[in-house]
Amino acid sequence: MNAEPPAPARRPAVFLDRDDTLIVDVPYLADPAGLRVLAGAATALAALRRAGYALVLATNQSAVGRGLITEERLRTIHDELERLLAADGATLDAIYYCTHAPRSDDRTAVEHPDRKPAPGMLLRAAEELELDLPASWMVGDRVSDVLAGLHAGCRSILVGSNDTLDGLPTPAQDGRVFAAADLAAAAELILDERLAPSETP
Ligand SMILES: [Mg+2]
Repeated sequence: MNAEPPAPARRPAVFLDRDDTLIVDVPYLADPAGLRVLAGAATALAALRRAGYALVLATNQSAVGRGLITEERLRTIHDELERLLAADGATLDAIYYCTHAPRSDDRTAVEHPDRKPAPGMLLRAAEELELDLPASWMVGDRVSDVLAGLHAGCRSILVGSNDTLDGLPTPAQDGRVFAAADLAAAAELILDERLAPSETP
């Protein structure tokens, strides 16, 4: 029997917020020397990669849009981030950033297709890296991260204590939003979830 050739496999991804998820949040970080990767973050990334997840940073960087740092400086900061992660055995597949400066501070308001809570960066990454969005996760410390993940068709994990899920629009998100103490705990949750189907006969 001639079997149909399998469709090219799309990889699941973990989309990652940057500030207060992967690194210590220094508002409008301008100096790469100020970068500090959060404890346990690199180890968590390495475990996710071993389990087959693409790792994609998706970060709002309005400091550029506000004229506080240049895009070139932002790239220098991200080069340094990748260097620090590599020193700890972790790598990212891609970094997406949105430089749009928002008019409001409502974290649930979509102002620009790329700025979280909009899913633009995640959708573009899915195209460019051939990612499986329903099998993917968004991890971040803000409601805007959670919403960006949901809008892209992923599940989302809110980490840390900067934001709560209170007031989040709830329709159709049952079972798609979780909370965890930090990125390490979020990675454990994702890895447990991934093991679950194979445990079912
Ligand atoms: Mg953040």
